[in-house]
Amino acid sequence: MAHRVTLIPGDGTGPELVEATRRVLEATGVELSWDRHEAGLDEYEEHGNPFPEETLAALRRNRVGIKGPTTTPVGTGFRSVNVLLRKELDLYACIRPCKAYEGVRTRFPQTDLVIVRENTEDLYAGIEFERGTEENARVRELLSQLGSRVREDAGMSIKPISEFGSERIVRAAFDYARANGRGKLTAAHKANIMKFTDGLFLEVACRVAEDYPDIEFEDRIIDNLCNQLVSRPEEYDVIVLPNLYGDIVSDLGAGMIGGLGLAPGGNIGSEAAVFEATHGSAPKYKGQNKVNPAALMLSGVLMLRHLGEREAGDRLEAAIAEVIRKGEKVTYDLKPSRDDPTAVGTSQFADAVIEELSASR
Ligand code: NAD
Repeated sequence: MAHRVTLIPGDGTGPELVEATRRVLEATGVELSWDRHEAGLDEYEEHGNPFPEETLAALRRNRVGIKGPTTTPVGTGFRSVNVLLRKELDLYACIRPCKAYEGVRTRFPQTDLVIVRENTEDLYAGIEFERGTEENARVRELLSQLGSRVREDAGMSIKPISEFGSERIVRAAFDYARANGRGKLTAAHKANIMKFTDGLFLEVACRVAEDYPDIEFEDRIIDNLCNQLVSRPEEYDVIVLPNLYGDIVSDLGAGMIGGLGLAPGGNIGSEAAVFEATHGSAPKYKGQNKVNPAALMLSGVLMLRHLGEREAGDRLEAAIAEVIRKGEKVTYDLKPSRDDPTAVGTSQFADAVIEELSASR
C-alpha cells in the first residue's frame, strides 16, 4: 500500500524545492500518495491564515509530512508556522544530519554527524520578563526573597529543563543511533555551571545510556564540544543537546558541511514527523529555478527511512551524493564561483538525481 504523505509546498522558493523533491522521491519507485496542503505567507495573503486547520489535520491523519520553507515576516502579528507546527504536534526532537559529501568545498571533509536537538524546552520555552514591567518586578521580588539579586534594569528569560523532556530526547537520540547503525552518542551540556537544568539533562542522559549498552556514550561541555568539532570532527557521531545549544551547533554543523543548501532535517514527535530543510524560504530567489534542492531532497531521504523504506532512502542519498561528487549538474552554490555559467537550476538538479537513480537500477 502507498504511504500517504502530507505535502506542504510552503512559500518563497519552497514550491519549486518541494516539486523537485517530490519528483526524486517518486523516482525511487516507493509508492507515495500525496495529500497536498498549504501553509505560509502566500496562504496568509490569500486566505488570512498562514497555517490552516486542514493542514494540521492532514499531518495528524497521515502522521508524516514533507514541508517547504515558510517565511515569517518581521514586525507583524504573523506567528511562525514552524513554531506553531512544533507546538501543535509536539515535535520534540529535531534531527539534523551533517555529512560532508565528496565534491563539496569544506575545511571539514570528514564530518559525518547527526545533531539531535530538543525542541520544546530551555530558553526557547518563551517564559520571558521584559525589563521595567510589573511582572519583571514581581519575579525580581520573589528572587530577592529567595536570596538572589537581579538588577532592576535586567530583562529575564527562564530556562526550564525537565526530567521528562530530557529523557524523551535522549531516548530519541539513542533510538536514532541504533536504527541507523551509529555507534556513539555524545550528550552536550554546561552542567558545571547550570547544575539544576543542564545538570539534570546530563544526569538523565547517563541513566538512559544504561539501557543502550550497544552504543558508546560520553558527555562534553558545550564550549569544549564546539572546539573539538572544528579540530577533530571525525571523533563525533550522534550528538544530543538541549534546545539552545542544539540550535547553535546545528548551524555550526551546516557550515562544516558546506552550507545551508545541503543541511536536511526532521522534526519528530509522538504524533507525527515533519521533514524539512534547515534553510529558510530564500524569498529573493523565488520563482527563479535557482536554489539548491539537495537539503530538502536529503530530508526526503530521512523521511523514506522513517517510513521503513531504508533501501530506497540509501539509493536516493547515493544518487544525490553522486550528482554532488561529479559537480557538473549542480546549482550555483556548489560551483567554485557563485556566478559560474555552468550552474544548473533546481529542476535540472532533480533531473540529474533521477538520471543517477535510473543508472543505479
Ligand atoms: P534563508 O535560509 O532563507 O536564506 C539565507 C541565504 O542562504 C539565501 O539568501 C541564500 O543565499 C542561501 N540559501 C538558503 N537556502 C538555499 C538553498 N536551498 N540553495 C542555495 N542557497 C540557499 O534565511 P533567511 O533569509 O534568514 O530567511 C528567509 C525566511 O525564511 C525568513 O522569513 C525566515 O523566518 C524563514 N525561515 C523558515 C524556515 C523554515 O521554514 N523551516 C527556516 C529558517 C528560516
